[in-house]
Amino acid sequence: MRTLIRDVRVFDGERTIATADVVIEDSTIALVGAGGDRPADVEVEGTGRTLLPGLIDAHTHVFDGSLAQALRCGVTTELDMFCLPQILAGQRRLAADNDDVADLRSAGTLATAPGGHPTQLLAALAGTVLNGLDAAAIDFVSDPAQAPAFVQARLAEGADYLKIVIDDGAVHGADLPVMTADIAAALSAAAHEAGLRVIAHAITASEVEIALEAGVDGLAHVWADLALDDPASQRLAERVRARGVFVVTTLAYFEAITAQHVETADCARPGSSINAIGALRALRRAGAPLLAGTDATPFVPAHGAGMHRELQLLTEAGLSAEEALAAATSVPARHFGLADRGRIAPGLRADLVLVEGDPTRDITATGSIAEVWRRGVRQAR
Ligand SMILES: [Zn+2]
Repeated sequence: MRTLIRDVRVFDGERTIATADVVIEDSTIALVGAGGDRPADVEVEGTGRTLLPGLIDAHTHVFDGSLAQALRCGVTTELDMFCLPQILAGQRRLAADNDDVADLRSAGTLATAPGGHPTQLLAALAGTVLNGLDAAAIDFVSDPAQAPAFVQARLAEGADYLKIVIDDGAVHGADLPVMTADIAAALSAAAHEAGLRVIAHAITASEVEIALEAGVDGLAHVWADLALDDPASQRLAERVRARGVFVVTTLAYFEAITAQHVETADCARPGSSINAIGALRALRRAGAPLLAGTDATPFVPAHGAGMHRELQLLTEAGLSAEEALAAATSVPARHFGLADRGRIAPGLRADLVLVEGDPTRDITATGSIAEVWRRGVRQAR
């Protein structure tokens, strides 16, 4: 099966090509450039449109229906940051066997202190999306000596990386048990020993410091406790950059929880969204790698649609449109070792999104989706 997308603007994951022909052969990108003159089984008109690598959401939580919803909006890969093992097994099979859902990588069960974040949220979900699964029955880590066994159990459930949670609940208005620095360091070391990357959920500057000391590879959120122009944010961003740690942005998540605080008249924490923008700006100035992610759930942000909101928020916070698009394509692919995707180049997997207009100038164009291909399979629209 040979598909030709003719005369299309291409954002290849890193830069923009004004016009090119792109050929898909079966599951793979076969050609980018001039030379689409050989006959194709399918021809798609590219004039006035832009071809993007399939979007990669670097922070999601997958439940039934999430991966189909994501793909409809052009998110071809989801990097899940906590999924119960009973759910993960089925979702992983679904993503491997079908081309009408997004592909999936997952942390499996996250590491948190007994009773720590996010178990307070899971209790509320037991009767709905958890379908009666007992989230309180997950593995916990309460001693550094348990770290190697915890990591082995994640490997057994099919985890692609380790997620650790360092969060005392303050930003959520709670007071929760929190993982100690020595446990965080032991988990990080055990995961690296097993060949897994480590991503930390840390939501305040002091929690980020603990994560950096533990030697993590990435942060699952920007921090949200420092005021927009607090110089401490810039100093922390410089340390993140110096350690080579990447950061998943999740501005859509902060927007969602800020809206909840406003709705519930919780005036104590109205500022986490604006604080998160300050952290993001500091990280950009420092040159830290930024990965677009939403923290999508079955609620808000939504799978797929949340990614387009995230891209808008990133440009409103000061990223150029091309920087935002790279944060959703080539940058997460590089930092998660997904060498077969995230760019448009011959030999790579044909995960592609065709949109009307030019999102390299107007980021809102990412929402005007004309076509989506997953592993070369054109999606019904
Ligand atoms: Zn999350």
